[in-house]
Amino acid sequence: MDYCKKCGNNAKNCCTSCKIVYYCSKECQVSDWKNHKSHCRSFEVKEKNFFLEKFSRFFLFFLKKIKSEEKVGRFLQAKRDISKGDLLIAENPIVIGPKYHGDDEDENSHSFNCVGCFERINVLYNKCPKCLWPACSSECGALSNPELHDIECQILRLGKGPRDKMNLKSIKEYYRSDILIALKILILQRKNPKKFKAIMEMEGNEKLRALTLNFRL
Ligand SMILES: [Zn+2]
Ligand SMILES: [Zn+2]
Ligand SMILES: [Zn+2]
Ligand SMILES: [Zn+2]
Repeated sequence: MDYCKKCGNNAKNCCTSCKIVYYCSKECQVSDWKNHKSHCRSFEVKEKNFFLEKFSRFFLFFLKKIKSEEKVGRFLQAKRDISKGDLLIAENPIVIGPKYHGDDEDENSHSFNCVGCFERINVLYNKCPKCLWPACSSECGALSNPELHDIECQILRLGKGPRDKMNLKSIKEYYRSDILIALKILILQRKNPKKFKAIMEMEGNEKLRALTLNFRL
């Protein structure tokens, strides 16, 4: 539960601009604005300007500016000085899934991730009672959580299990926990198109940014 920044009561609604502070009511938010204003969202999202890009031939004056923004895609730009330690963004994750193991996964290890809470389990003993994927316990609370395993459990139930139930390689090939994040995202396409759209609009441009003058890690 979050608390109202103004009066301390329980509060459900956050400032829609920064999503960092909460208020119990519109009145509290309005009366706190003169204090919050200077701490609220300290950045704005900049995008490359498609209109100017399209007509850049006619606006040679802007051409230089457009070129530089085009190079880096969408990015955040500070609106004011930011002090060390300031919280800039607080967002809930869109999907939660197990860590991607990939290369550091030892194919001979007998350990798996719990399909609900992603806890590492050393012996494959418990399973989700519905889809029969590995679980820390059949009672793991995350198994029936609509924000966690319940999202993909219905799909995983369609599988027939490992080809050879004695062969570790075959078992590993079946319980690919590294694909769960991708599966959860695909399911969002039907279940929550708004969140799916947000994911599809994400850009990974840190490699390009790293080449620009203002970017320092
Ligand atoms: Zn309040
Ligand atoms: Zn704010
Ligand atoms: Zn678990
Ligand atoms: Zn399940």
